[in-house]
Amino acid sequence: MSHDDILKAAGLTKAEVTGGTLAVHSPIDGAEVAKVRETDPGDMAKIIAKSQEAFKVWRTVPAPRRGELVRLLGEELRAAKDELGAVVTLEAGKITSEGLGEVQEMIDICDFAVGLSRQIYGLTIASERPGHRMMETWHPLGPCAVITAFNFPVAVWSWNTALALVCGDPVIWKPSEKTPLTAMASMKIMERALARFGDAHEGLVQLVIGGPAIGEALVNSKDVPIVSATGSTRMGGIVGPKVSGRWGRPILELGGNNAMIVAPSADIDMAVRGIVFSAVGTAGQRCTTLRRLIAHNSIKDDLVAKLTKAYASLPIGDPRQGMTLVGPLIDHASRDRMQAALEKAKAEGGTVHGGKTVTSGVPQGGAYVEPAIAEMPKQTDTVRTETFAPILYVLGYETLEEAIAIQNDVPQGLSSCIFTLNMREAEAFLSAAGSDCGIANVNIGPSGAEIGGAFGGEKETGGGRESGSDAWKGYMRRQTNTINYSAQLPLAQGVKFDF
Ligand code: NAD
Repeated sequence: MSHDDILKAAGLTKAEVTGGTLAVHSPIDGAEVAKVRETDPGDMAKIIAKSQEAFKVWRTVPAPRRGELVRLLGEELRAAKDELGAVVTLEAGKITSEGLGEVQEMIDICDFAVGLSRQIYGLTIASERPGHRMMETWHPLGPCAVITAFNFPVAVWSWNTALALVCGDPVIWKPSEKTPLTAMASMKIMERALARFGDAHEGLVQLVIGGPAIGEALVNSKDVPIVSATGSTRMGGIVGPKVSGRWGRPILELGGNNAMIVAPSADIDMAVRGIVFSAVGTAGQRCTTLRRLIAHNSIKDDLVAKLTKAYASLPIGDPRQGMTLVGPLIDHASRDRMQAALEKAKAEGGTVHGGKTVTSGVPQGGAYVEPAIAEMPKQTDTVRTETFAPILYVLGYETLEEAIAIQNDVPQGLSSCIFTLNMREAEAFLSAAGSDCGIANVNIGPSGAEIGGAFGGEKETGGGRESGSDAWKGYMRRQTNTINYSAQLPLAQGVKFDF
C-alpha cells in the first residue's frame, strides 16, 4: 500500500493531510507524507473553555454510562485495528506486529476501564465518635491534558483517555509533533464511538496539534487541573514545576534507563531471548527499552558472545516486511545522537560491537542502524544517560549487592529486572533494599508491560502512574465525608467546646 492509501484507509481525507504547516515524515523512507494544520495558539483558550463546559455535564453522567462510551471506543478500535496499526508503522516506524500490538494495548485499556466504571470504590472508615460514619468518595477532577511522545503515539493517549473518561474528566490531547497522523486517525475512531454514544457534550475529547507552545498553553492553564505528560526528562523538568506551581496535578511519564541483572544461576538461553527483545525491539525506542546489562563476571563473556551472535542475525529493514525485527529510528538526528553516544562510550574505555549505519537492503531515506552492544569498564556518564536508540551497555558484577547498587545508580527509575533461578536473589531484588524502579521483574525483560499493572517510575522518570491497578485515582479528587446520625455533636480527640 502506498503512504497515501494507508492514510486514506485510516479515514484521513486529502484536505486533512495537505495544505498545513506541520510537515510529517515517515521514518521508513524519510518521505514527506503529510502537511497537517496546526492549532492556532490563539484558539487554545476557546478549546480549554469548551473542555470545561463538557466537564460540567460529563461529571454528572453516571460512571457506568461513561464506561459505555469507552466500551464503544474499544469496539471501534477492534474494527479499525489493522488500519490504525498501519499508520503507527508509517509514522513511527514500528514493525507491523508492534504497530498492531500498540492498538491492542488501546483495546485492552478500554476493557479495563469499562470494568473500572462500575468499580470506582471508596473506603468506609470507622469513626471514633458514636453515631457517626466516615467514608471516602471519588469525584471527577476536571479537564485532563494528555501530552504524548512519538514512540507510543496512540497507546499512551488511550491509557489516559480511557481512565479519564470513566473518571468523569474531558480530555485534550497534544500528540508529538512527529506523530500527528496517528492522533488524527485515533480521533476518527473516537468520533465514531461518540456518534454511537449519542449524547456526549461537544468538546469532551479534543485534539490540538503543534509543538511545545501548544503544550505550554495546557500546562499553564488553571482550567486544566490534570496534565499527563509523557516524554523526555528535559520536557518533564519544564512541565512538572509549571503545573505544580499553579497547583495543578502533573502525571509525569519520563525517560528510563532500564537494567537487567543476569545472575550465575540464570537460564541463559531465556535471558538471551529476553535481552534481545527488550534491547532491540522498537529499535531501542521504548521508554522501557533494556539499556544496561549487569552480568555476573563468571558468565559475562559467554553472554556477550551469545548476544553478538544473535544480534548478527537480526533482520534490519522496512518495518512493513513480515521478517523485519529492527525498523528505522524516528529520524536522522536520532541516529546522529546514537553515533555520538557510541563515540563517547569508546572514549570512556568501552568496546563497541555493531552500531553502524545501515544503508543497503533498507529503504533509502530512513535512518537504519545495527543495534549496538558496548562493553563498559564501569558505569560512566554516557551509560547513565538515556540515548533513545538501540545501545546496550554491558557491565560486570561480583556480588548481588554490587549489582543492585549499579542498577540503582542512575538518575532514572522506570523499569528493571533480574534473571535468576535463586529464590533468595529474586526476592532480594524485589525487596525494599532492591530495585528502586517503578517496575521490577523476575525472569522477564524490562519492556512490554501489560495494562493491568500501574505503569510509571521513580526519580527522573517523574513518579506518575498510568494504566492499571489504582492509577485511576490520579484522575479524580478524593473527598472524605463524615456523617453524624446522632442527636449529639461530639468533637474528635475528646475536645470540649461547651458554651
Ligand atoms: P519529547 O520530550 O521531545 O516530547 C514529548 C512531548 O512533549 C511532545 O508532545 C512535545 O511536543 C511535548 N513538549 C516538549 N516540550 C514541551 C513543553 N515545554 N511544554 C509542553 N509540552 C512539551 O519526547 P519524545 O522524543 O517525543 O519521546 C521520547 C522520550 O519519551 C524518551 O525520553 C522516552 O523514555 C520517553 N517516554 C516515556 C514514557 C513513560 O511512560 N515513562 C513513555 C514513552 C516515552
